[in-house]
Amino acid sequence: MKLDDRGLLIVLSGPSGVGKGTVRSALFEMTGHDLVYSVSMTTRAPRIGEKNGREYFFVTRNEFEERIKENKFLEYAEFVNNYYGTPLDKVEEQLDSGKEVVLEIEVQGALQVREKMKDAIFVFIAPPTMQDLYERLKNRGTEPIEVVEARCEKARREIKLAYLYDYIVVNDTVENAADKIMAIIRAEHAKTERTISSYSKLIEEEEKKYWKEIQCYYESSRKRWNALPCYWPISI
Ligand code: 5GP
Repeated sequence: MKLDDRGLLIVLSGPSGVGKGTVRSALFEMTGHDLVYSVSMTTRAPRIGEKNGREYFFVTRNEFEERIKENKFLEYAEFVNNYYGTPLDKVEEQLDSGKEVVLEIEVQGALQVREKMKDAIFVFIAPPTMQDLYERLKNRGTEPIEVVEARCEKARREIKLAYLYDYIVVNDTVENAADKIMAIIRAEHAKTERTISSYSKLIEEEEKKYWKEIQCYYESSRKRWNALPCYWPISI
């Protein structure tokens, strides 16, 4: 019997530009865990090289708002004038099939998931410094400078909420950060509250086996006893 059958929901969160995507890619390259990425939906325009269904599902504001009304998101947030959300349908299904589902989302969304999925793991990915974050956003060259400023302003507020997470991982190098997250996933799998119910079943099965063996032993002793010559005065 396999212990710990249900997958974990791993929420990677933190400010825009901190390198969540790069850390996630490095994490997915490590072997030994069945990780799947939950592709989000957004109303922001695709950047050069982004493909619908791979980085995001790109939709219009109307489409997004329709889905909000239909309760089709596990969480969603408005971030610097665009909507971003996690489609609900696949997440539970993949967790039930034993996969580790990774969300890569901003802070408001992560806090909504915290309310709904009590056993998810929340990792805040932090920049080494704010200056570092600003440089990264600017050098990425994907947004005009006003948007970079707005994202940095948002990051200052988000960083103050890091204490609400289970873990804080500083993205000093991608390898370090990914290694730490993998260590967290492994440790979380071994947590008593996660393994105890399957482990109890294992103990129950062992006990049943033990009592069956005792019964067999008793039966064979009884047969041997009763097979003793008939001048033996009693039978059991
Ligand atoms: P970007 O426009 O740079 O791709 O993403 C902006 C921010 O939105 C990033 O911090 C990213 O992690 C976050 N984000 C991406 N997908 C989701 C989502 O489904 N929900 C929420 N709440 N945030 C998301």
